[in-house]
Amino acid sequence: MEVIAAVAAGAIASACQNAVLSSWLVSICPQRDYAKELGERLSRNAHIYTPGSDNFAAATTRWSAAHAPEAKLVVIPSIENDVAETVKYANELGMPYLAVNGGHGAIKTVGKMKNGIQIWMHQLNGVELSEDETQAKIGGGAKTKAVTDALWAAGKQTVTGLCECTSILGPGLGGGHGVLQGRYGLVSDQFVSMNIVLADGSLRTIDESSDLWWAMKGAGHNFGIVTSVTSKIYDIIHRDWAYESFIFTGDKVEALYENINSHLPNGGSLPVDIMHYSFFFNNPEVDPNNPLIMFFIIQEGNMIVDPTYTKPFHDLNPIAVDGEGGVFTDLATWMGNANTSPPCKKAGLVNYRFPIDVESYNIPAQRQVYDLFASATKETPALNGSFFLFEGYSTQGVKAIPSESTAYPFRGDNLLISPVINYAAGADAEIDAKAVELGENLRRILHEGSGREEMHTYVNYAYGEETKQNMYGYEQWRQDKLLELKNKYDPERKFSFYAPIV
Ligand SMILES: Cc1cc2nc3c(=O)[nH]c(=O)nc-3n(C[C@H](O)[C@H](O)[C@H](O)COP(=O)(O)OP(=O)(O)OC[C@H]3O[C@@H](n4cnc5c(N)ncnc54)[C@H](O)[C@@H]3O)c2cc1C
Repeated sequence: MEVIAAVAAGAIASACQNAVLSSWLVSICPQRDYAKELGERLSRNAHIYTPGSDNFAAATTRWSAAHAPEAKLVVIPSIENDVAETVKYANELGMPYLAVNGGHGAIKTVGKMKNGIQIWMHQLNGVELSEDETQAKIGGGAKTKAVTDALWAAGKQTVTGLCECTSILGPGLGGGHGVLQGRYGLVSDQFVSMNIVLADGSLRTIDESSDLWWAMKGAGHNFGIVTSVTSKIYDIIHRDWAYESFIFTGDKVEALYENINSHLPNGGSLPVDIMHYSFFFNNPEVDPNNPLIMFFIIQEGNMIVDPTYTKPFHDLNPIAVDGEGGVFTDLATWMGNANTSPPCKKAGLVNYRFPIDVESYNIPAQRQVYDLFASATKETPALNGSFFLFEGYSTQGVKAIPSESTAYPFRGDNLLISPVINYAAGADAEIDAKAVELGENLRRILHEGSGREEMHTYVNYAYGEETKQNMYGYEQWRQDKLLELKNKYDPERKFSFYAPIV
C-alpha cells in the first residue's frame, strides 16, 4: 500500500512539474513558483513582476481600461532569447502569452488573454545603424520617439506612427501609418528582415525569402513576437516642417470637408509634403452646445505652410488660428501626440475606436455624423470627452507598393477615420452600451455615405467585432493565404489575442 502511495505521489509531483496543467491537476498541485522557475531560464537583466507589486501595476496599465488582458506574470526580456525562453516555458505550462509594447492596443480581443504571461518588450529598445547607414536594427520594444530621435541625431529618418508613445512594431505589424508614408510607404514597407519568436518558441531570422514575410506586413501580430526588426532609413530631405491649425464651429462642417475634398484631395494627388488632420471635440467653455472642429495642415520643407493650401480655410472664418515652424521632431507636440500629451497618458479611460477607411469625404454623411456626435455626447455627458478623428496622410508611397505584395489590404484608401468614444472607467453598463452604440452608428453612417459594400477598417484601430474581411481584406486569396500560413506557423493559435485572423 505504501509503495502504491509513493508511486502515485511521485507521478503527481512529476505531472505538476512537467505537464500542461489541466484544471484538476491545478487543484491538487502544490503552489508552483512560476516567477522563480522562469527567472532561472532568463538572462541576468530580465525582470519578472508578480501581481501586487507597484511594478506590476505600472506594467499592466493600458491606454484603454476596457478589455485589458489579465496577466499573472509580467516578464521583461533583456535579450532577444529571453522572449524565446518565455514562450517555451509558457508552452510547457499551457499558459497563454501576449507581447505588450506601448500598451495602446485597444482591440477588445486582447481581453481574452486570462491568467497569462505579459511579455513587456520595452527593454529591447536599441536603434543601431548599419555601416552604410541605409538600414537600422530596431529593438522589438522600441517606441516611436526613441527611434525618431536616434535617427534624427544621425541625420536620418524613417516611417513611424505619429504618436511618440506607441511602439514601432505595434503599429508596424498591422501596416503602420505616418507622416512620411507619402514618400516611403507604410511602416511595414520599410522592413528588410526581422528576428521573430515563433509559436514553438524558436527564434528565427526571416526576410523576403520566407513565405511568412508577406503576412508580417499587415497581419504580423498573428504570427510571432518580433524581437528586432531591420528597417530602411533615409537621409533627411527637409529638416523644416510647419503647421497651421484652425478651429471651426459646427456650422462649417460642409464647407470644411468640401474644401478638403477640393483643395487637399487624396488619391495620389495630395502633395507628398502635405498632411491634413481634423477632429470633432467638445469644449463647453467655447461652445456649450456643440462640438468644435480642430483642423491641421502640416507641410514638410517650409517654416510656414504655403498659403495656397491654407487660404481656402482662412476664408471660412475660423474662430481660432495657430501655427508654427520647426523640425520633424516637433510634429508630435504640435499635433498633441507627444509623450506628455493626453493621448499618451494612461488616464483610466475606456477608449473605443470604430475605424473606417474611405476614399473622400461624403459631405451629407459628415453633417450627419457631426450632428449625431453632438447630440449623443450632450445627452450622455459621460461621453463628452470623446473625439472623432479624420486623418489624411499623403499616399503616393503607399500606393506605389503592389497591393498583393503584402498582407496590408487597403492601399487604395485615402482617409483614415475613427471616432474615439471614451468615458471614465468604472461607469455602469448602460454607459458602456451607449458608447458602443454611438461608435457603431457613427461608423455605419460613414459606411453608407461611402457608397461601398465593403467596409475597410484599419486593423490597429479596430474595436474587436469587425470581420476578418473588414480587417484583412475581402479577396478570398488573402483569407486563404493567411489561414494557410496560420496553420503552418501557429497551428495551436497561440498568437490570437490581437485582431485574430482565425
Ligand atoms: C494615441 C494613439 C496614437 C496612435 N497613432 C498611430 C499612428 O500614428 N499610426 C498608426 O498606424 N497607428 C497609430 N495608433 C494605433 C496603433 O497602431 C495601435 O494602437 C497599436 O496597437 C499600438 O501599439 P503599442 O505597441 O502601443 O500597443 P501594445 O498594446 O503594446 O501592442 C499592440 C499589439 O501589438 C502586438 N505587438 C506589440 N509589439 C509586438 C512585437 N514586438 N512583436 C509581435 N507583436 C507585437 C501585440 O499583439 C499587442 O497586443 C495610435 C494609437 C493611439 C492610442
